[in-house]
Amino acid sequence: MICLGIESTAHTFGVGIVNDKGQILANEKDAYTTKSGGLIPNKLAEHHVECCDAVWKNALRKAKLSMKDIDVVSYSASPGLGHALRIGAMFARSIAKIYKKPLVGCNHCIAHLEIGRMISRAKDPVLLYVSGVNTQVIAYESGKYRIFGETLDQGIGNFLDSFARHIGLGFPGGPKIAELAKKGKNYIELPYTVKGMDVSFGGLLTNVKQKYDSGKYKVEDICFSIQETVFAMLTEVSERALAHCNKDELVLGGGVACNTRLQEMVKIMCSERKAKCYIPENRLLVDNAAMIAWLGLIMFKAGNSVKPKEAGINPYERTDDVRVNWR
Ligand code: AMP
Ligand code: MG
Repeated sequence: MICLGIESTAHTFGVGIVNDKGQILANEKDAYTTKSGGLIPNKLAEHHVECCDAVWKNALRKAKLSMKDIDVVSYSASPGLGHALRIGAMFARSIAKIYKKPLVGCNHCIAHLEIGRMISRAKDPVLLYVSGVNTQVIAYESGKYRIFGETLDQGIGNFLDSFARHIGLGFPGGPKIAELAKKGKNYIELPYTVKGMDVSFGGLLTNVKQKYDSGKYKVEDICFSIQETVFAMLTEVSERALAHCNKDELVLGGGVACNTRLQEMVKIMCSERKAKCYIPENRLLVDNAAMIAWLGLIMFKAGNSVKPKEAGINPYERTDDVRVNWR
C-alpha cells in the first residue's frame, strides 16, 4: 500500500509518499521564509497556493510514481494556522476526488510521534515535541496520546523566532540564535520556569528583550544563555515524564529538535537514567509530509477515512482529542 500525504499546518507545504514497509519514496517541500519579520498568515496562504502543484509533481517524479499507483491520500487536518491548513485540505480533497482515492485527515502532532516511532522502532516512547507553535511532552496511555506536559503560553520555536525578530533576524530565527550561541561564553542568569511537567516562555521573552535593549550584554552571550536555560527546562520536563509514565524511550520531534545543544542535553539525561534516546534525521524532525503520509497509511489500515465533502480542518485540535485505534 502506498500513501501520498500533504503537510500544510504552518510555514511548510509538503508532499510525501511512503509505502507500508515504512520506506519514504518522496518527501518534497517548499517552506515560507522571510529576511526580516515573522510569519504572515495571508502571505503564507499565497505561498502554499503558488507552490502546491509543483511540490506535488516533484514528489511523484521523485518516487517515480503516478497517481494511479497511490492507494490513499492523507493531509494534515489539525492543529495549525487556519490560513495554511485550508490550502492543504483543499488540495487533498481535490486530488482525492479527481483520482478517486480514499482520504484520511491527520493530526500533525501525532504524525511527529508516529514517524519517530517508525524510524526508531521504539515501542512505547515519550515524545518531546518542540516546534514553532507546539511544545509538548506526549506519551500513549489508555487509547490516546496524552499530553503530560506543555507550554503554558507560547511554543519554544515561537519564543526563539520572536526574540530573533526583536534583534532584526528573519524567520526562522532558531537556527540563527543557535549560530550566535556557539560564540557566547558567559552565562547570564535568566528566569527558569518549570511547573511540574509544564514550561513557560513569556516572562523569559520579556526579560531577554530588556537585556538586549539595555546594551549591557553581548548578543552572543544572551543567545548562549537562552539556549542553556530553555533546553535545560525541556530536558527536565522530559525526564520527569519518563519517570512519571515509567517509560524508557525518548523520541524527539519538531524543528527545534534539530538543535544540537538540545540533542546533547537530552542524550546525557537519557544515558544517566539508562533510557534510549532516538533523534530522527533533520528532514523528519521539521514539518514534513512523509510523516503525514505514514500516519495516513497506518490510520487507513485501521479503518479510518473521511469523505472529501466532510474533510475539514481543525486548527485547535489537541493531541488527546484523537482516539488512537491503530495501535
Ligand atoms: P517546525 O514547526 O516543527 O517545522 O519547527 C520550526 C521551528 O524550529 C522554528 O521556530 C525554527 O526557528 C525552529 N528551529 C529550526 N531549526 C532550529 C535549530 N537548529 N535550533 C533551534 N530552533 C530551530
Ligand atoms: Mg511540527
